[in-house]
Amino acid sequence: MQKQTIKDVEVRGKRVLVRVDFNVPLDPDGKIEDDSRIRACLPTIIYLAGHGARIILCSHLGRPHGRVNGPLRLGPVARRLSELMSIPVKALREAVGPTVEQAVSAMQDGDIVMLENLRFYPGEEENDPGFARDLSRLADLYVNDAFGASHRAHASVVGIAAHLPCVAGLLMEKEIEQLSSLFEDPPRPFALILGGAKVEEKIGILENIIPHVDLVLIGGGAAAAFLQVRNPSDGGFPEEPGTIVQVETVTKQAKTLGVRILLPDDVVVTAKPEPGAAFRIVASGQIPDGYRIADIGPLTLAVFTRELQQCRTVAWNGPMGVFEIPQFSKGTKDIAKVLAGLGGTTVIGGGSTAEAVNRFGLAKKMTHVSTGGGAFLRFLSGETLPGVAVLADKQGPAP
Ligand code: ADP
Ligand code: MG
Repeated sequence: MQKQTIKDVEVRGKRVLVRVDFNVPLDPDGKIEDDSRIRACLPTIIYLAGHGARIILCSHLGRPHGRVNGPLRLGPVARRLSELMSIPVKALREAVGPTVEQAVSAMQDGDIVMLENLRFYPGEEENDPGFARDLSRLADLYVNDAFGASHRAHASVVGIAAHLPCVAGLLMEKEIEQLSSLFEDPPRPFALILGGAKVEEKIGILENIIPHVDLVLIGGGAAAAFLQVRNPSDGGFPEEPGTIVQVETVTKQAKTLGVRILLPDDVVVTAKPEPGAAFRIVASGQIPDGYRIADIGPLTLAVFTRELQQCRTVAWNGPMGVFEIPQFSKGTKDIAKVLAGLGGTTVIGGGSTAEAVNRFGLAKKMTHVSTGGGAFLRFLSGETLPGVAVLADKQGPAP
């Protein structure tokens, strides 16, 4: 990786501000539903604690829109981290100001504190220089381990770099290395699986990755637009003309490069993708009026499975169907199982795709499940993430 990490700098005795993405899903009672984002940052926190840093964690949680919001306080998250690490993690009730500065000045080497939800302050999302400066006063060094927040030009992600030396945490390093490896001549055949709700959000990935892959498998709602490009009367509900043009362009590009794009031959359709809704399995060219695609069909699953089993590298974004509803989850679940059993490299990302793989209990069987939703999509689309751009380069001057 081009960027410096915590292993490239001296951290002992330093106050280290660590931006993490502990934006965990909470149930209606405020309990943490899934702590994988907390676990993902443990290597960085353990390394820093083991090397005598004074660790000041900061994160956002939910969307409090610049105001204090009781249920979105980070206390319970700090408690969970404390349980996972078996050492105390002190949750502060503010993120900046004299009380926080006092608490930080009382820290010993190896201590861990957690600042209050950054998004309680309007300056965070506004990337306000004053808020960034107030945060920076707490620390000597800044570490970004929040890959999932790095596509946002917020004060704790970008503004902070004006004040402190900035390096990557170990999760950030792993994310960048795993995702970059897809563009660095990975073992072939290399397939991209693309699904999810809105194809127009995914076209950027396809355009960027198509020169690198051998094969693209399309499922989910994304399939409708591709089917319509193949035959305008296919795919169910008509897609926007703009989307059709984008799909036509990328389809031509694939043809020029000799990359195969496989579309579903059969699909599960429903009038309304709701729990308990009636459904039918039809050929993808014969979707009845008023019906829409809710999953890939059994024939398609068989074809996709056979193709994927030949692959040595697979990248996957976007569920194959409306997996949240049991009768439309089979495509996503079975594809996840195929990848889990594959000998090659499997890189999965996107908020819903990662959620699906976690829900099926298959995340550990994958090479890498990205903690990024939007950040993962932007990275694969070839965009430079603002939170990565500000980190010190390996060859550059010492931070
Ligand atoms: P990710 O968050 O992994 O990038 P998306 O946000 O693109 O994925 O899409 C996830 C959503 O797509 C899920 O909520 C899923 O129910 C939905 N979805 C999957 N297939 C379809 C479909 N055929 N029609 C409508 N929605 C779909
Ligand atoms: Mg999503």
